[in-house]
Amino acid sequence: MTSPEKFDVAIIGSGPGGYVAAVCCARRGKSVAIIERDRLGGVCLNMGCIPSKSLIRSASLFRSRTALAAMGLAVDCSGFDYKRVFAASRAAADTLSKGVAYLMKKNGITVINGVGVIASGRSVMVDGSREIGAGAIIIATGSRPRELPGFPFDGERVLSSEDALMLRKLPKKIIVLGGGAIGVEMGFIMNSFGVEVHLVEALPRLLPLEDADAAETLRRSFVKRGIAVYPATRAVALTKDAGGVSVTLEDAEGVRTPISADCLLVAVGRTPNTDAIGLDRIGIAPDRGFIPAGDYGETACPGVYAIGDVVATPLLAHVASREGEIAAAHIAGQPGEKRIDPLEIPAAVYCEPEVASFGLTKERAEAGGIACKASTFHFRAAGKAVATGETEGFVRIVHDREGSGILGAHIIGAHATELIHELLLAKRQKLPLTAIASMIHAHPTMGEGIMEAARLGLGEGSQG
Ligand code: FAD
Repeated sequence: MTSPEKFDVAIIGSGPGGYVAAVCCARRGKSVAIIERDRLGGVCLNMGCIPSKSLIRSASLFRSRTALAAMGLAVDCSGFDYKRVFAASRAAADTLSKGVAYLMKKNGITVINGVGVIASGRSVMVDGSREIGAGAIIIATGSRPRELPGFPFDGERVLSSEDALMLRKLPKKIIVLGGGAIGVEMGFIMNSFGVEVHLVEALPRLLPLEDADAAETLRRSFVKRGIAVYPATRAVALTKDAGGVSVTLEDAEGVRTPISADCLLVAVGRTPNTDAIGLDRIGIAPDRGFIPAGDYGETACPGVYAIGDVVATPLLAHVASREGEIAAAHIAGQPGEKRIDPLEIPAAVYCEPEVASFGLTKERAEAGGIACKASTFHFRAAGKAVATGETEGFVRIVHDREGSGILGAHIIGAHATELIHELLLAKRQKLPLTAIASMIHAHPTMGEGIMEAARLGLGEGSQG
């Protein structure tokens, strides 16, 4: 047997967790190997964030034909070719995946193509034959679409989010199971391109983790756009035939309704990729699939770290990347920031209207015994929103009664995913509402909504 190749750090998985950790380790002088079985960039760049946002942009442009028609412009849609929309999404993914390859090269990181399995706390076996020795190992193997019992993916009629992103041809009618971020974004894309969409969520509202009023605003907006939304409804049976699928839905009262479509998208969550990577060999016992990890990503096995979708923090690309930075600093003996504060993680949903938030809702704060106020400014009173016809939605700041600290923020409306960061910065810097209320915001902007919500929190505004 040949002796193993040796590195300071071996990373399994090259998603936004793994590749960011690799660069951080390399920049701290470590020799790094990154092991990837598929394309560099992981789910985020190849099958998640990036292609979905490309499709959303195209969907939004396609939808704007209605606004153009209102100007008297007749848009001829006869040349519409979804294959080109798809191709643009793949081009975006390819560009960024190549960007990761460049980053690896520039930072002297060794990329190893193959399936990595942990052999011991100090080595990883690639494709069963190539042994990589390492002073530290980072597990960044991410996650995959979760299957719903009774609704197994077949790639044609029962689709995962990955299958849906890879469609070259649009269905005429689709049922989407799951009203979380992925289900909502895919529903929006399909609806914008004229597909009949039926969006089913088992819990009482879409985006169950978001502010209840934001979720209701989104539901109303989706219904107005022609999406059939079924809250508090479960899919209980599936039959397939040559024509497509037939799904039996059951509502909260137990009433069953059959519904047929060309295909079904199951977007009910993600399963961490922790089942076949050799965790048992190093004494790590996953908890519901997730790897228990400490403040810096350390696992039960010294020298082995876990980051990103394999740990039970929010399954988001920016969380994975930050966890990669934290683990890398710890490995390099320069520990800085610890585990991310869960109340300071922005969440963003990129449909129209966009939804973005962080921290506590008023309900959650009160349930935790925190006295608070929610100050809400509706975009219908913002000059920019009226001028651009984007009046749906609001800015809501959850803050203490004195206005001296922000507990959370919830925005639904145009550009919400960009706007949220001003409030998050204010929270992180422990700024009072006066700091936001007194800062000059350009007019007319959607950002003025943030200033107005802060003023309302100080009892200075005019909108309830
Ligand atoms: P991943 O990105 O999953 O990467 C893991 C990598 O490990 C993969 O490349 C995989 O091939 C590789 N791997 C796994 N096992 C092995 C092995 N044994 N050997 C070698 N390689 C292995 N998040 C956001 O923040 N914003 C969004 O807008 C957003 N949109 C999304 C849209 C969709 C449709 C989906 C599915 C997800 C979206 N996400 C979004 C979530 C985001 O993609 C994930 O949270 C993020 O990719 C997790 O990063 P990661 O590094 O932990 O793992």
